[in-house]
This record gives sequence, structure tokens and C-alpha cells, in this order.
Amino acid sequence: MPVWRSQNLVLSLDGTAPQAAFLARHEILLEGETALLGIVEDCAYFALDLSHVEAPLDALKAQMPVEFTDLRRVGPLLSRQEGSLLAYARGIAYWHSRHRFCGVCGSQASSEDGGHVRRCTNPACKSQHFPRTDPAVIMLVHDGDRCLLGRQRVWPPGMHSTLAGFVEPGESLEEAVAREVQEETAVLVDQVTYHSSQPWPFPASIMLGFHARARTTELRVDHSELQDARWVDRDYLLSHQDDDSFRMPRRDSIARRLIEDWLRR
Ligand SMILES: [Zn+2]
Repeated sequence: MPVWRSQNLVLSLDGTAPQAAFLARHEILLEGETALLGIVEDCAYFALDLSHVEAPLDALKAQMPVEFTDLRRVGPLLSRQEGSLLAYARGIAYWHSRHRFCGVCGSQASSEDGGHVRRCTNPACKSQHFPRTDPAVIMLVHDGDRCLLGRQRVWPPGMHSTLAGFVEPGESLEEAVAREVQEETAVLVDQVTYHSSQPWPFPASIMLGFHARARTTELRVDHSELQDARWVDRDYLLSHQDDDSFRMPRRDSIARRLIEDWLRR
């Protein structure tokens, strides 16, 4: 499964749902960093990073038309298994590209154990470095009949979503939820309960989803983080059709799942 500069290879078949492109060894004319992704029905799948070349399609002798694309563009349309494999390939290729040197002594690090560890080549150091995933919390805050949604400037017109942020060293997930909500909107929360998660390898996160109850409702939005945040009525969400004044997050997102499960309560 070739990866090029964080883009994945897919079949470019007009008018059909996108599919992951799997190439056999003989269809690849170039070496690159590889990592074993796993074995499915006696077939071993590897990620292959071709980021070091300018024209990666020239290095492939694919039997079908293929192209590199951003997984975020095609992810929702792929089967779950193909989506996970592409995400895995993208994530591990990214990790290798950012850990070429030892973080302890600065010597070169080389890939071992099927591409799942990098070891420092300095005999006096030999530090091992493992792929990492950064936890982020994403939370639907509500006060019973209204929920708190925010909006970032770069999002599509009208799109509002749940608040989110990275977990900091030394804090629990529940503390991260409370801190992020307070920092971004000045709202205080309690009753923080875990809901579900979604891997987010863009580049290396997992989103841990929560519901939380607001203890206070006065908003003071941190405009360095959010363009806007507001309380939205349950009835409005149930009746409103997406338009440029207000739209919900994407259907395949954990944010959407957090909102819809709350609406169903
Ligand atoms: Zn080292």
C-alpha cells in the first residue's frame, strides 16, 4: 500500500465508489521505507513510503488506473477494512518520516521488527523508539435541552461541531475535557462520561469522545481558538436542514455521533 507525502493510493475509477489500491511486489519498481501492516488470509500487507521521489506514479506498474489522494477526501466512501488499512499505512509512514533520527543522541535510527520500532544506530545509545498516538478529547457539552457547539474559521460555511483538544501530560481524560471546555468557552462542566472513540491519524491522534453536563452556561469565547461558540436547542437541531447559516459535522465523524446520540435521549 504505497503512501506518498501523506497521501494514499486508490483506484481512480470514474463514477464508482473509491477503493484502496493494493499492488503486488512486482508492480513496484522502487525501494522505500516499509512497514508490515498485517496478514489477511495468508497475504501480507505492507505500507511503502515513496515520499522521497517527485513522481511516485512513475515508480509503479499498476494494472489499473491509480492516483494518490488524501484519505480525508475518500475515507467516508471506503469499506471499513480498507479505510482502516489506509489509515494505518498513512499513520505509520508518517511516523517513520518524523523519526529518522534518534531523539536521545541525534544519530540515525533504523527500522526494525517489520517497521514497528526504530532503533538508534549509535552503539553507545541503541535507544528504541515506538510509534505513538496522541490522545485528544472531543466532547458534547449539554445543559439538558441545549448543547454547546463551536466553530473554527477554517471550516466550511455554517459548520458547527463539538469542542475538542489535546490531552496534556499529567491530566486525566476527564480533566482534559473540563479544561478544554473552560479554556475555550469559560463553561464549567461535570458528569463527564466516556462515549466512544475514533482513530484520527492526521497525523497521529485518537479522538476519545465524551458527553459532559454544563454546570454554568455563560459563554466567554476564546477567539484565538474559536470563531464562535453557542448554545443550540435540541429542537433546532432536530428540525434544521444544513445550510450556510448552520450545518452539522460530517456524518462519518465522531462529533456527529456524539450529537446524534444525545438528540436521541
Ligand atoms: Zn541514540
